[in-house]
Amino acid sequence: MMLRKETRQITVGNVKVGGDAPISVQSMTNTDTRDPDKTLEQIYACAAHGCDIIRVAIPDEKAVEALPTILDRSPIPVIGDIHFNHELAIQAIEKGVHCIRINPGNIGSNDRVKLIIDAAKQAGIPIRIGVNAGSLEKDIKKKLGVTADALVESAMHHVQFFESQKFYDIKLSLKASSVPLTIESYRKISEACDFPLHVGVTEAGTAFSGTIRSSIGIGTLLSEGIGDTIRVSLADEPVEEVKVGIEILRALDLRKGPHIIVCPTCGRTEIDIIPIAKQVEAEVRNMKIKKNISIAIMGCVVNGPGEAEEADIGIAGGRAQAVLFKKGKIVRKIPEDRIISELLREISNLI
Ligand code: SF4
Repeated sequence: MMLRKETRQITVGNVKVGGDAPISVQSMTNTDTRDPDKTLEQIYACAAHGCDIIRVAIPDEKAVEALPTILDRSPIPVIGDIHFNHELAIQAIEKGVHCIRINPGNIGSNDRVKLIIDAAKQAGIPIRIGVNAGSLEKDIKKKLGVTADALVESAMHHVQFFESQKFYDIKLSLKASSVPLTIESYRKISEACDFPLHVGVTEAGTAFSGTIRSSIGIGTLLSEGIGDTIRVSLADEPVEEVKVGIEILRALDLRKGPHIIVCPTCGRTEIDIIPIAKQVEAEVRNMKIKKNISIAIMGCVVNGPGEAEEADIGIAGGRAQAVLFKKGKIVRKIPEDRIISELLREISNLI
């Protein structure tokens, strides 16, 4: 049983983050925000796959101008991502973004950060303070190097300024591309404060390596009860980040949904399990099932139903056919060419 670290709760649009809220999945569009239609296409795709919150980069005033269209049509809350320019942050807040993400260290001065805080206060939206190993303040880096202590000191230094302005509607991220550094930093910040944490391994890599690195980094922290919202950073389509994020939550029983058990296949396998499993997985993903259901796809009748005894439903391969089983009990036989369609029909009946 995982005990979740208690954090304060904030609200991003209609999504609660922290406290007893479910852990939310975020992604970030990689289209040009100045093109609202393209950006919305990605947002729709992410939302359709279960993304809870989306972030968009706001590099200039043209991007700010596209915000009303995006905000009007986005089915999920939108976070504006700002670097360096406090005026862009204020304009984005005025256009109605549901949260703003800044690294106060690169905004230029406390006076400018204060202006952003005032605008967020006025709009009633939270701010994510995003500290990154790649852009630590010079004095902190000189004193502590690029370490977890440095990331925590930088974040807490910003937190103290926000608190001095009586602004508490914040969440924190301490990002590094090193998985051990990410884990250590979040463990330490989680001890140091109770603000909700946005967890992720930054610049994690391509879909293959980035999925592994993110799963280890985010998964380790979540399993220790640390993290209120997550983002998997992949050099790929944002929707791929969402799929991985949701699978990480599913793996830890932190989000309801289908679990597909597939045997690794061996010399006893009698039907072509791997393409069957891939197709069933894709179809099941499209069904957008929101309750726990375990589906087993096993290679042989001798061991399959027994090994997947806990599965709600499954098939096990025989010669040119499969048996359908429920909770380990064989129900009936299915010819090989109808395995996928019949299994999907049975799954639909179950849900
Ligand atoms: S279920 Fe059967 S085919 Fe699959 S790995 Fe186990 S023994 Fe091999």
